[in-house]
Amino acid sequence: MRANPSGTGPTSKCIINHNFSDKDHTKEPMDANAILQELITLSHELARESRHLVILGEGNTSADAGDGTFWVKASGSQLGNIAENGFSRVSYEAVKSLMASGPLSEEQVEAGLMEALVDKTQRKPSVETFLHYLCLQQPDVKWIGHTHPVSVLQILCSKLGAEPFSRHLFPDEIVMCGTAPLVVPFVAPGLALAEAIQDRLAKYQDQYGHSPKMILMGNHGLVALGKTSVEALNITLMADKFARILLGTYALGGPNYLPPEDVERIDNRLDENYRRRLLAAK
Ligand SMILES: [Zn+2]
Repeated sequence: MRANPSGTGPTSKCIINHNFSDKDHTKEPMDANAILQELITLSHELARESRHLVILGEGNTSADAGDGTFWVKASGSQLGNIAENGFSRVSYEAVKSLMASGPLSEEQVEAGLMEALVDKTQRKPSVETFLHYLCLQQPDVKWIGHTHPVSVLQILCSKLGAEPFSRHLFPDEIVMCGTAPLVVPFVAPGLALAEAIQDRLAKYQDQYGHSPKMILMGNHGLVALGKTSVEALNITLMADKFARILLGTYALGGPNYLPPEDVERIDNRLDENYRRRLLAAK
C-alpha cells in the first residue's frame, strides 16, 4: 500500500502509523492482531475525505481472522477515526445459526449479534455483519470494504440504476472490478438485505464460477470483495473512477462503451491476468 503523501487531516496520520502489509494472507497466515491493524488502515484509506467514499458513520469493513472468526466494524464507529475498539470479532458459526433461526425481531437480531461476539466485552457488531459474513464466505474473499461513494451513488440513485456498471469503458476497470458486478435492488440494511444478497451470491457463483469483485446495492452503495486489503481498496477506487468518467461522458454526448468482444478479450488476456495478480498482491 502506498500512502498518498498529499493526504491531510487525521486519517493521513493513521496511515503513517500503521503499516499496510503487501502480503497475500492466503499463503502466509497473519495473526489476528496484525489483521486487525491492517483492517484499521484499510478503513482509514477508505474514509479519506478527499476520496468522497464515506462520511460520518457511513460504510463498514471486515476481514477474515483465519480461525473461524472475522473482524467487523462495531455499530456506531466511524471509518475515518476507527481504532481497535471500533471493531468486533465474531464467530462465523454463530452468525450462520442466527441467520438460519428464521424470522427475527430487531431485538432478537441485536441479542444474537451480541451472542456472536468472541469477546463479550466488545461492542455490538454492525447491523451489516450478515452481509460481511456472506461475502467473507465466498471463495478467495478475505477483506471487505463497503462504502457509499458519491460518484457511484449518483448512478445507483438515478433512473439508470446499476445498469451502466454492466458495460465497460476502459481496460483498467475491467481488470480491477471484473466484467459483471452483482446487483441487488434496494433493501433496508440488516438481515433482509443479507437474505437478498445470499440468494444472488449463490446464483452468481453458479453462473460465473467465481466470486464477484463488487456488489452494487440500489440507492445504497458499493461492496468491494478482496483477496487482500489492497484489492478491496483498489476495487473501490476503480469503481469510483469508472463512475466519475461515466458521469463525465454525459457532458459530451454520452458513454462510448467498449464492444463486448473487446471486453472479453481484455478480461481474458494473459498479461491483464498477470497485472491483476500483481495489483492484488500490492
Ligand atoms: Zn451501507
